Amino acid sequence: MAQDNAPAPGAETSTQAATKGTHAFSAEVGRLLDLVVHSLYSDREIFLRELVANAADAMDKRRFESLTDKALALPAKAAITLTPDEKAKTLTIADDGLGMSAEELASHLGTIARSGTRAFSAKLADDQKGNATADSPNLVGQFGVGFYAAFMVADRVEVVSRRTGSEQAFSWTSDGKGTYSIAPAKRSQPGTTITLHMKADATDFLNPARVGDIVKKWADHISWPVELVEDVD
Ligand code: ADP
Ligand code: MG
Repeated sequence: MAQDNAPAPGAETSTQAATKGTHAFSAEVGRLLDLVVHSLYSDREIFLRELVANAADAMDKRRFESLTDKALALPAKAAITLTPDEKAKTLTIADDGLGMSAEELASHLGTIARSGTRAFSAKLADDQKGNATADSPNLVGQFGVGFYAAFMVADRVEVVSRRTGSEQAFSWTSDGKGTYSIAPAKRSQPGTTITLHMKADATDFLNPARVGDIVKKWADHISWPVELVEDVD
């Protein structure tokens, strides 16, 4: 992005240089995050619906791409794994999906790509001038806020993703306060792992029974196994 971090000859590929480092969210995302972080309480549990739906979408995409490229085939026991860790105060959502490259992490999680969220954002801009309104939760119910719903319950989100067909993984981290950072990372298999560092007032979502109930309520229709890992220490 910034022109002053062009790679030295032979140092890194230009795509890596363009995405690694710390970047500002697009203005639209910033506005959305502000709303998500400051004003949405009633429907907080929908964050899990959004993240599980994204995991399932990524696995559907991988299955589709593997039809024409056998090397992308899903593992035999492909699943979405939810791991609440009450000690570490983290909830992890892992999938065997298509994964994201560094560029995809930046464009998919740093700008508003999806039409639903863009419609939400436009409606928000219409209804208010930067401050959340009383009917914001209704807007969220109507449009959904997708991935950014993670920031309703987490004060830091780390995404580690490895694109199917690539050996290199990348992390995307943000506290939802204006910037995100991308760096090389390790992941033994392709797919995506999202670690939510839960807010102090959202630790009930670290209770496995609570997580199980939310999954039953919102993710029953998901066409991939959703596994809850209960014993972490
Ligand atoms: P939507 O799912 O409607 O596109 P989201 O905000 O939920 O919007 O997600 C934005 C984009 O981020 C997705 O379209 C997808 O490209 C990418 N993404 C999010 N989660 C994952 C994931 N677990 N695996 C791969 N890509 C993902
Ligand atoms: Mg989504």
